[in-house]
Amino acid sequence: MSNPISQKSLKKLAKLSIHTGLGLEKGQDLIISAPIEALPLVRLVTKEAYKAGAGLVSCFYGDDQMSLLRYKYANDASFDKAPDWLFEGMARAFDNNAARLAIIGDNPMLLAKQDPQKISRVNKAMSKAGTPVRERITAFNVNWNIIAYPSKDWAKLVFPKESEKKAVKKLAKAIFAASRADQKDPIKAWVEHNKILANKSRWLNEQNFASLHFTAKGTDLIVGLADGHEWAGGAAKAKNGITCNANIPSEEVFTTPHAKKVDGYVSSTKPLSHAGTLIDDIKVTFKNGKIIEASASKGEEVLLKLLDTDEGARRIGEVALVPHSSPISKSGILFYNTLFDENASCHIALGQCYSKCFIDGDKISKEEVEAQGGNTSAIHVDWMIGSGEMDIDGITQSGERVPVFRQGEWA
Ligand code: ZN
Ligand code: ZN
Repeated sequence: MSNPISQKSLKKLAKLSIHTGLGLEKGQDLIISAPIEALPLVRLVTKEAYKAGAGLVSCFYGDDQMSLLRYKYANDASFDKAPDWLFEGMARAFDNNAARLAIIGDNPMLLAKQDPQKISRVNKAMSKAGTPVRERITAFNVNWNIIAYPSKDWAKLVFPKESEKKAVKKLAKAIFAASRADQKDPIKAWVEHNKILANKSRWLNEQNFASLHFTAKGTDLIVGLADGHEWAGGAAKAKNGITCNANIPSEEVFTTPHAKKVDGYVSSTKPLSHAGTLIDDIKVTFKNGKIIEASASKGEEVLLKLLDTDEGARRIGEVALVPHSSPISKSGILFYNTLFDENASCHIALGQCYSKCFIDGDKISKEEVEAQGGNTSAIHVDWMIGSGEMDIDGITQSGERVPVFRQGEWA
């Protein structure tokens, strides 16, 4: 039987990841994390990495079945554990300039039937243990990249009516298209795409808006922007001097909101798949940057637990603009995965901000980030608020309104 995943496109994705995604430099070590099913892609990436002069390539595999076995058989104390030794080791590698590649492909609904209490404890333990890694990644110390592999359970969730093989074929095609890996020269296609995103960021930086006003059905939200915020999108330079495209795909331009200047209410426009569960129809109200009311039609318990992770979990750390006509949005596919779904819609993220989204972001200290309005948290969870009906006004420092989006598109 023929392989439902185009091997030609898979090879192109591997090459794209090493050269455009990571911009891997000669001698750099590479740490990969991937679901075990993505082994064929891991091997292709490894080959490209060594061809590009990588020092040492290491991969840490995850397995959905192993995760489920834990929920089924582990003793209660297990749910507060996380491999801190692994994150500490990774942090040490990043301090020695290793690059990081995450290949995603886990079943987004893996834990749908598991105890939310246990899920929340696992997430909390993981967030805490992962701090050394998260800090280095959000501070953009090293070049990193995320790409996706069309694994079976994920494909069946996205295309439930298809046979497994057909579903994988469809998801593979959608991933390659969104990642531009199906184009004749994907690396060149990304050079063009990066130019467009850079132009949008430049315009927004010139405007230097004090805040953005989002309006749509179920949404009337003022998002104040952090002092000295800077918009980014597409290729960006990490602190180690290497330019990379962290997310493949990526259609967003994004910046840091002011953690204490968000007011109004907002409704999600796509379900959010978080840690193996689905949260749908999120409605929240902000006051002075803090969420004071939250509900969801599905997964409300997981949402409320998420908001209680820490002090910063009730505030936002990212605001991103994506036109409703983005290729991922136009595909009409709900991927149940943030890497894809966030690039189909304007979104905000609960929790940690990116310090690179500040002027002189490569030199700014943690204390300065906070003083300028950047949020700190153990979580960073994006959720989608954009739609074809969304209008966005930029409010200038002197209080004038400038149309930014009309009916979901750049004004
Ligand atoms: Zn984003
Ligand atoms: Zn984000």
